[in-house]
Amino acid sequence: MRIILLGAPGVGKGTQAKLISEHYKIPHISTGDILRGNINKRTSLGLKAKSYIEKGELVPDDLVVSIVKDRLEKEDCKAGFVLDGFPRNLYQAKTLSEILKENKCMIDKVILIDVNKAEILERISGRRFCRNCGANYHIKFNPSKLNDRCEKCGEQLLQREDDSKDVVLERLSVYSRTINPLANYYSAHGLLTKIQGNEGIENTFNRICSTLQSVYSLLV
Ligand SMILES: [Zn+2]
Repeated sequence: MRIILLGAPGVGKGTQAKLISEHYKIPHISTGDILRGNINKRTSLGLKAKSYIEKGELVPDDLVVSIVKDRLEKEDCKAGFVLDGFPRNLYQAKTLSEILKENKCMIDKVILIDVNKAEILERISGRRFCRNCGANYHIKFNPSKLNDRCEKCGEQLLQREDDSKDVVLERLSVYSRTINPLANYYSAHGLLTKIQGNEGIENTFNRICSTLQSVYSLLV
C-alpha cells in the first residue's frame, strides 16, 4: 500500500505516519528526518539544506526529489510505504507519479490532515527537544518533569530554530500557497481523502485507518 500524508506543518503527520507504518508494516519515509540526519552529520547535502530550513524556506525541489527517489528504490519499499513531508507542491507530485510509473506502480491513497492555524501554532511553538539524547517534549502537552531540563539526562531543553513562531508563520504561509494545487491534483485522480485532525492522535488515527481499510481490502 502506497500512501501520502499531506497537511500543514504541525498537524501531526509524523506521528500518524509512524502509526500507519507499524499497523500496515510499511516503511515510514520522512523527508524531514532524512534531511535532519544529513544536517546532524554535516554532509554536503545537509549543509545545503540547512541554509534554507533556517530561513523557513523550502529545500529546492530537485534536492528533495533525488533524496526520495533514492529511498523509494530500496528493497523495503517494494510492498509499499507511507510518505510524510513529500510531495510539497505540484511539481514534486508530478515527478513522483513519473518515478512510480517507471517502476510500474502508483499511489493508492492520499490523506490530507486538516487542523486550524491557531492550534498548529500552539503545537509547534511549544515543542522542545534534548540535543544530548534526542528526547522530545512539549511545554503544554508533554512537559518535562524537570521543567526546562531533560528528564532522561538533565540537559537543557531547546527549541528547534524552525519551530520558532516567526518561522512557523512563514512555513504556514508557504504551505497555504502550495496545498490547493496539490490537493486538486490528487482529488482529480480520485485519491484524496480529507481527515479532521483536531481531536487527538487516537481519533485521527482511527479515521485514517477506516479510510485505508477500504483501500487495503482491494489490494490483498
Ligand atoms: Zn536528554
